[in-house]
Amino acid sequence: MQQRSGAIQSNLSESKKEIPVRTPNLNRRPLQDEVLILGGGVAGCAASIALARRGRGVTLIEREPIPRHKVCGEFLSGEALEDLHALGIDVASLGAVAIDSVRLAAGGRAAEAPLPFAAASLTRKALDTALIAEAIAVGVRVEGGRGVQTLVRTSNDVWQATLDDGTTREARTVFLATGKHDLRGHTRPEDPQRWVAFKMYFRLANAQAAELGHASELMLYPGGYGGIQPVEGGNANLCWVVQQRYLARVGNRWENLLAKMQKDCPHLAMRLAGAEPLLAKPIAITHIPYGYIRRTSDEGLYCIGDQAAVIPSFTGDGISIALHSARCAAAAYVAGETAPVFQTKLRSALMAQMRLAEFAADGLNNALARAVLPFCLRVWPGVMRVTAKLTRVAQHASVAQPAVAS
Ligand SMILES: Cc1cc2nc3c(=O)[nH]c(=O)nc-3n(C[C@H](O)[C@H](O)[C@H](O)COP(=O)(O)OP(=O)(O)OC[C@H]3O[C@@H](n4cnc5c(N)ncnc54)[C@H](O)[C@@H]3O)c2cc1C
Repeated sequence: MQQRSGAIQSNLSESKKEIPVRTPNLNRRPLQDEVLILGGGVAGCAASIALARRGRGVTLIEREPIPRHKVCGEFLSGEALEDLHALGIDVASLGAVAIDSVRLAAGGRAAEAPLPFAAASLTRKALDTALIAEAIAVGVRVEGGRGVQTLVRTSNDVWQATLDDGTTREARTVFLATGKHDLRGHTRPEDPQRWVAFKMYFRLANAQAAELGHASELMLYPGGYGGIQPVEGGNANLCWVVQQRYLARVGNRWENLLAKMQKDCPHLAMRLAGAEPLLAKPIAITHIPYGYIRRTSDEGLYCIGDQAAVIPSFTGDGISIALHSARCAAAAYVAGETAPVFQTKLRSALMAQMRLAEFAADGLNNALARAVLPFCLRVWPGVMRVTAKLTRVAQHASVAQPAVAS
């Protein structure tokens, strides 16, 4: 696959702003912040903004110097849009594309249904950049380009984070928001299916881009599923997951896997006919413990985003859960609710949605279901709407509905 850095870089880096890296003067800083947030993705930024707006002192530590592409389908559900709007993020001004329908393709069949809620699509690079900028604007002390190595609780009930440069940060309260990456001593369980996920941007052929329109398409194939949808700048995001053993069958090569996926799902082959890849190769991640929900937590340690729960990707609801858990954790902390109580409550609030999503994911991975699903949905497209609705996180706070331009 050829590299074509120009288009994607210019299209996807328009909103790129440097994160001011605030280098502390002291190697060991005193307890000057009430809250230390580890990880500056969706959950970490959302929590930091919520806390700073309530007058709390917050330091956010993010290992990347500036936001970069992340493996993500970049679908923003209605709930995610509401939370982002409440955080002061105007996704329309960032170029978000409205998504109004969902299409399911397996084998030679495809079915379509309108989405029962407003949704949008926006690259993570643009979204994360805007979130970091908002955090800085509301007074969060952002330390970019600093990875956290360890997090331990000292004998005097203080959390101490040691960074990769050997310096430490301390606070009585920590929000753990490192997403897919586990900190030593705070690991989540193994991922038994050994999922591997990829993301690639394409410039689709004009006719295919027009046919894709404002839809989010979910494509099924043996060992996994993938989604394609338009993003800002006239590009399309193809994001796919596969179990490691299926990747091994094609020599552990993503090119072979993509070819096999197109063979198994002609709809994908049609979409990618004449498409121009916009990255030299896909970005990839492994270890995705789908279905994980954290049971409890230690005193003073609020776990949010993927550190709290990992919903199967096809739901397009991970960002929404990240925002939701961040908002609830910030509110819990301000209200004096302990981290273990918060974590247990979050778990029970997410349980039904997570189990349903896992059940549906098992169906997607079943050969018989793959064969009959699009046919059933054609006959009864309401199922798709109902499933889309049921796998959403329930919103507890009333927030204004944002607008997304189409
Ligand atoms: C294949 C795939 C497709 C998906 N598609 C969608 C979708 O379409 N829509 C959707 O809503 N959700 C989707 N998700 C889920 C979504 O991406 C996540 O749920 C969401 O990003 C979680 O947010 P987070 O803040 O917990 O983690 P992240 O957004 O990943 O942020 C974590 C941050 O922590 C930083 N970090 C990590 N380790 C350290 C460290 N040691 N020190 C300092 N910083 C650190 C990272 O650099 C990162 O910026 C998808 C997930 C996958 C795997």
